[in-house]
Parts: sequence; structure tokens; C-alpha cells
Amino acid sequence: MTAKSAAVATRATAHGYPRQGRNRELKKAIEGYWKGTVTSAALRATAADLRRENWAQLAEAGVQEVPTGDFSLYDHVLDTTVAVGAIPERHRAAVDADPLDGYFAMARGTQDVAPLEMTKWFDTNYHYLVPELGPDTAFTADPGKQVGELREALALGHAARPVLVGPVSYLLLAKPAPGVAADFQPLTLLDRLLPVYAELIAALRAAGAEWVQLDEPALVQDRTPAELNAAARAYRELGALTGRPKLLVASYFDRLGEALPVLAKAPIDGLALDFTGPAAGNLDDLAAAGGLPGKRLIAGVIDGRNIWINNLEASLATLATLLGLAGHVDVAPSCSLLHVPLDATAERDLAPQIARWLAFARQKATETALLARALREGTGAIASDLAANRADLASRANSPITHDPAVRARTAAVTGDDARRSQPYAVRTEAQRARLGLPLLPTTTIGSFPQTTELRLARADLTAGRIDRTAYRGRIEAEVREVIAFQEKAGLDVLVHGEPERNDMVQYFAEQLTGYLATRHGWVQSYGTRYVRPPVLAGDISRPHPMTVDWFRYAQSLTDRPVKGMLTGPVTMLAWSFVRDDQPLAETARQVALALRDEVTDLEAAGAAVIQVDEPALRETLPLRAAGRPAYLAWATEAFRLATSGVRADTQIHTHMCYAEFGAIMTAIDELDADVISLEATRSHMQVAGELAGTGYPREVGPGVWDIHSPRVPSTDEAVELLRAGLAAIPAERLWVNPDCGLKTRGWSETRASLDSLVGAARRLREELAG
Ligand code: GLN
Ligand code: ZN
Repeated sequence: MTAKSAAVATRATAHGYPRQGRNRELKKAIEGYWKGTVTSAALRATAADLRRENWAQLAEAGVQEVPTGDFSLYDHVLDTTVAVGAIPERHRAAVDADPLDGYFAMARGTQDVAPLEMTKWFDTNYHYLVPELGPDTAFTADPGKQVGELREALALGHAARPVLVGPVSYLLLAKPAPGVAADFQPLTLLDRLLPVYAELIAALRAAGAEWVQLDEPALVQDRTPAELNAAARAYRELGALTGRPKLLVASYFDRLGEALPVLAKAPIDGLALDFTGPAAGNLDDLAAAGGLPGKRLIAGVIDGRNIWINNLEASLATLATLLGLAGHVDVAPSCSLLHVPLDATAERDLAPQIARWLAFARQKATETALLARALREGTGAIASDLAANRADLASRANSPITHDPAVRARTAAVTGDDARRSQPYAVRTEAQRARLGLPLLPTTTIGSFPQTTELRLARADLTAGRIDRTAYRGRIEAEVREVIAFQEKAGLDVLVHGEPERNDMVQYFAEQLTGYLATRHGWVQSYGTRYVRPPVLAGDISRPHPMTVDWFRYAQSLTDRPVKGMLTGPVTMLAWSFVRDDQPLAETARQVALALRDEVTDLEAAGAAVIQVDEPALRETLPLRAAGRPAYLAWATEAFRLATSGVRADTQIHTHMCYAEFGAIMTAIDELDADVISLEATRSHMQVAGELAGTGYPREVGPGVWDIHSPRVPSTDEAVELLRAGLAAIPAERLWVNPDCGLKTRGWSETRASLDSLVGAARRLREELAG
């Protein structure tokens, strides 16, 4: 890049920053407030301190325009619900009585009132609270939070840009309120909502905003012409407001596609586009659309949702192209940094050379600022940073961690046969029936039993060195004994060991596989005050020793009934980790699949007649746009089959999925070729059984008959009724009886009562069917 580009005053900016603070101060303050040990004033003061600290970190890194309004005490979509006054009727009184308590009531519910539903924010692991709207929803502007936070930033001397969820995405993320017809389309409320956004925007302008950013990530999904028209109308109207600030519409997570020309033509002043991962196609699309002459482009060239250092030279090349396509180019991470941990320099346990491969939010802010500086002053100005970046990238590319020749040779040698069972299902099912001798409508559970405080304490004791491995083992074995005895007494047919040794279904395996790293402080918000620490899938994956076999063997030694071997599948291992970005996901999935295949083989050799490989995340990592789905489903299902196809015909492979609308992945479910699949089905009243039957699904199915996300105990009659619905779709020979998911969040007493109902229901129907 030449010094000529110095004429363009490119700035560094960001769409959002982690909220929790260095030591998760926000979590502590909010939970303290809920318990009554922290006052609302103290909570507000902590929140203001954290915002000040966040802006200071961004500014110190060299970010010249900071976001405001992205901070939240719970969730930014819930904040938008408050800002547009869409408080559900059932929460109105609480909000009127005390806005803060009312806010938390919407988020968490109270003794008498249900919270808003929570669901995943696009294909991330962040959950937002789903707005509930209906034909009677009346919106009113409540700009208080947005204006207050903007004023704070301005008073601290920052150039600041308020960020709001845009009106089109807000409506597209909403669902019909309870009691409203299920086919009600919230987007029909657009005309009513736009004047409220106009008021919010005007209030921000009055408070000193030069720019206002409206996030429209819903426009990166496949949209109907009517929805695209709604977007065009929204920004025509907001663009036409008099005396308005400059408007920027932001998108992230995928290409804008058909929405790009719509927004490029709209009378707004700028666009933010993602140029990373599946969104990289935005570059060609933007050129094809004629660019953004005279407008501001915020170029998201740094991956905002993964934790690897940027390839600065590659980003500079992208930016160089973009300079020719827009009136003005600024640099930013691709999306809010909410999806990555705060600061990689806190990871003192990692080898320093490996820590240098990582960029968390703070490091990404620095990278953003470096790129902006290079555009302003020429690449010479960041020459030493570029050299260091090159060296770090080379150290990662050449590391034995990322290149294990044995793993590489093994994945390269995989053939189609490796990912196929040796016998077709018709043969397998006969062999399995003969080996297992199960009754009609066999009963089982999904794997975990209640994770009691004692179990968590045992793990904490082990980590802190208060007890040794042997003592820990003793405590876990005692739990396994109890769980097995309990299931025998309850009359279950296929038992589980209860997973007491697992902190988390991904972390447990990540800790034992070579190629995974663990962080100490890598917390990321999952929802509200819940944070997770995803493991880092950094290198080539192999399994140095069996991971579950001893537990299985111990459990099976206690009973004559079959105990299920229990593993987490390759797709879920990737979905709930930070994955490497230096090779295709398909390749990474294959490596994980082969490591799991070793475990499956060892379980079989240890006598497991039934092995379950859970894939609850198969649906959630489905690409946002349909065009990307066939390729994803092809590698995802192949990885599952690769993990599970090395067994004999008479070994029964189970899988499990939950949290899903399964509609979009019916064919993929079939392509897993699992002998038995258990699925969440209670809330949808066994709908999935009908859907599967509709596609001609030929194998065995356990649609859940106990909603384990609720403390409610189902009665035998209810379970019978659900099973009858299941039997209407799936013949008795292929129907299993099980809960919706694992029981780790449930208590023992509900578990006992609910499993009694399940077993009772299975027995009653068996008698009927025999009679
Ligand atoms: N086997 C796991 C359990 O029972 C499955 C959890 C899940 O599907 N999320 O906890
Ligand atoms: Zn589940």
C-alpha cells in the first residue's frame, strides 16, 4: 500500500465488547442483586464501571469510535424490547412497579409468571430472549438506556456510536405472543414500529450521536421478497427522517446476498459488512452491486467470533480492494466481540508461544487498530507488527500441535467404507434383537442423572488437590452404583452409568484428547449470567488413551441389563468449542470422528452392546443460508458415521438430539444411519415422530415423553397419551420410551417419579398391544 491511501482517514471501530469484566464482576453483581446482597445502586455502579473500563480498553488499543448501548444486564434483544416498549402483558405490572425487577422478571420469570422464551442468537452459542408480539402490541419509545450510555461515553471523551438491534431483525426474531394465532407474522407490525425507532434515533441525535447503528443480522438469512421489501421500506422511511443522525446498517455472520443491493440503494449513510468465513462472499457481491460510492463502509475483516490471531496481510489485501469500492472505509471485527473471551494475556497457563496464536476481544481491538493505522499511514507504519504477525502465523502453521503426521496419514486414508456399517439396518436389527432380547417399547434414559452438589464438590476437591484421584474415583463409583441400582429398581431396560464424572459433555472429552487446549479465563456469555468456557480445538486431534471405558466397565459389572456406552459426537465437539480456522471444518470433524471411533471400538471390546453418540448440536450449526447446508450436512453426517461404523452388526448405535426444529435436517438424520435415535418431542406433542414417519424413516425412534426442562412430573396417563401419538406414526417394534434429554439439571425426587411414570406407561401399552 502506498502513502497515497493516507488521504483516507480510516478509523478503527467495533460493534460490541464482552460485558462481564475481567473477573466476571457483572455476573457477581447481578446474582448478588437477585439474592438481595447487592443493592440496585451498587449493581448500576458496577455496570457503569465495566462500561467505562470497556471503552478505555478499546481506546487504549487504538479504537477511535466506540460502540454504546451494546452493554446489557442480561440481553441486548431484551433491552430492545424495553426500548420499543413491547413489554408482554403478563410482565407489565412488574415493570411498572420497578423497571429493574420487571426487566429480570421478563428474563427469568417469577414464581407466578413465565419468562420470555430463550433461543440461540443465529448460529452462535449466545441466547437471546424472544420478543412476544401480536396484533395488539403497542410500541412506545423508551430511549433511557441507550441515551444514558451514549452520554456516559461522550462525557468520558470518546467518539461513540450507539448500536441498536434494527427494526427488521427485531421483528424477524420475534414470535407470536401467547394466545396470538401461531401464523401471526410480527413483521406486519413494521409500520407501527418505525415511528418508535424514529423517536429513539431522534433522542440519540439530541444526546449527541453523529452516527446511529442499526444491526440487521436477520438479513444475512435467506429472505422472501416480501421481507426484503420490508427492509427497503424501513430504511427508506428512516433515511427520510429530517434532522436525523447518519445511519449505519450492520450485518454479520454471513453474506447479505439479496439484501445487499437493497441496503446499498437505501438512503442511509453506511453499511457494516462481515468479510470473514461464510461471509467472505460479500467482497464479490459488493463489487457486483457497484460498491458503496459516497458511503461509509465498516469492513469486518477480523473474525469476531473465533479466537485466532488475524492474518493482517490478508486483511490488508481485502481492505485495499474495499478502498476502491466505498466512499470511506473503516475497520472493525466482523461482529460484536461478545462472542469471544476478554483477554488472551490472562491465559498464563498456556505456553507463551501458543498464547501468541490467540486473539480475544482486547487483542482483536489492537489488530483492528493496526489495520486502520496501516490504511491511514501506509503499511510501513506497522512494519514490526506485520513481521511479528507473520512469525506467529508461521509458528502456528509449522507447529507439531497443528501437524501430527500420524493423524494426517490416518484421515487421508479414510475410505467410503470406513463411514458405512458393514451390514444394512435390516440385518443389524435382527442381530441386535437376538443379542439384547429387549421387550416391546424398551425404556431408557439419555445419559446423565442428577448432578448433585456432592458431585460438584468432589470435582472441586480433586481440582483443588483436597482429594486424590483414587478418592475421587471412589466417590464417582459410589454414584454409579446408586444410579444403576436405581434404574434396576425403576424397571428400565437399557441402563446408563449417569455421567457423574463429566463436568460438561464436550469439556470432558476435550480434556482427554490431544490437540485441544483449555483456557482458564476464556469465559463467554451463553445467556444472562451464565458463562461458558469453550475448549479450544487448536491442533490435530488424537486419543492417547480410552476416555470412558473404565466407567462403562464398572457400571456394566454391576448389572445384567445392557448399559449404554456414552459419547459426544464429532459435530457437537466442534460446535461447542473454538475451532481451528486453518483447515476446513470437514477435516477437523474427520479427525475428531476417528478419535471417537477408537473409543467406540474399545467400548465394544469391553462388552458394550449399546453405544450412544450424542449430536445435540447437529441442527444448530446448520449454515444460516440454505446454499451452504448440503455441504455442511454431508461432512457432518459422514463424521458421525465415521465415528460409529467400526462396530459389529449386533452392536446397537444410538444417537440423541435436542433443542431443535428438526424439520430442516430430516434427511441428515436418516443419513446418520444410527440404529436408534432419541429426540426431544414432548413440547411439540410428538410432532417429530410424524415428521420422521413422513420421510419414511426406517429405523428405531425414541421421541421424548418427559420434558426435562421443566420441574413438572409427567403422569403415567400423560406419557401413555404421548406414546399413543408416537405409535400413530412409528410401529411398536421401532418405538422407544425415554425422556427428552439428560437428567443432570433435575432433582432426584422428580427423576424418580417421572421415570416411574415412563416405565408404567410402557408397561400399560405393552399389555394393550399384547392383548
Ligand atoms: N448424554 C447427554 C446427557 O444425558 C446428552 C446431553 C444433551 O443432549 N445436551 O446429559
Ligand atoms: Zn439432549
